Amino acid sequence: MANRERNKKILLELVKQADNSRCADCGAPDPDWASYKLGVFVCLNCSGIHRSLSSRVKSIKLDFWEDDLMEFMKTNGNASARALYEKAVPPYYYRPQENDCVVLREQWIRAKYERMEFTGETKYPPISYTTGFYEGMLWKKGKENTHFLKRKFVLSEREFTLTYYNKENESKGPKAVISIKDLNATFQPEKIGHPHGLQITYQDDDHTRSLYVYHESPEEIVTWYNVIRAARYAYLKTAYPTGSDEELIPKITRTYLKEGYMEKTGPLQKEPFKKRWFILDSENRKLFYFKGQLLKPASSIKNELQRGLSTG
Ligand SMILES: [Zn+2]
Repeated sequence: MANRERNKKILLELVKQADNSRCADCGAPDPDWASYKLGVFVCLNCSGIHRSLSSRVKSIKLDFWEDDLMEFMKTNGNASARALYEKAVPPYYYRPQENDCVVLREQWIRAKYERMEFTGETKYPPISYTTGFYEGMLWKKGKENTHFLKRKFVLSEREFTLTYYNKENESKGPKAVISIKDLNATFQPEKIGHPHGLQITYQDDDHTRSLYVYHESPEEIVTWYNVIRAARYAYLKTAYPTGSDEELIPKITRTYLKEGYMEKTGPLQKEPFKKRWFILDSENRKLFYFKGQLLKPASSIKNELQRGLSTG
């Protein structure tokens, strides 16, 4: 019993150290779980992912820590794990935060510890991120209905384009060629109704359009997300040659500041209020509204926001 209290006390001291005071995987404050296989302190959510990976986890406060396991945590910890497992994370690779969706957080943990993609070995990062070209099939929501249809997508970093084809009619040429310039990708599992749902937004003349896609494989959809980010990063490097990584990385992709239903009336305020889906986008300072969550925009309100909106 003496050791039980002593070891717990040592662990509670360890987790207060600067490097350990945030979850090794998502940065959440005050982690109170630890993987005694990897030697990292993690939050409750990430501990669940580690457990499903058969990485052994214990609660710092509730579980019994044997001497050797406590010593292991003492000699390892978040900083030394980061030096090994995050040695070669590409600058464009998305590092999930605590509020990100499960697929992003789970794949980050798998990429790091299970596939060891970032240890700087020659095999990794996977060739898909570095060749400047990626193609594959994604399920895309059809325009007229709510069905998802399998479509071929091709990402070219050389052309800075994302192209997709109608599967049956590939010979007829692409259905759309989308410029990487104004493209954004963001995970929207609830909105799209699939845990791997990805929203791709782009400019088409004066309109902002969205594609809603997913892939059955969590690894594959996160790869798509990161190859899009790799292409966006390459584009930004070309467009802003003097931009530092610090400036460019936040511009690669973004999540919207706020989304949700509000009721709106017409300009004369005589029409009955109607429920509309609003999106506030910080990057181009626009407020969009849609008839429904997944529909084409009814309008975008930009000028009114130019001044009044602080985008931080
Ligand atoms: Zn975490």
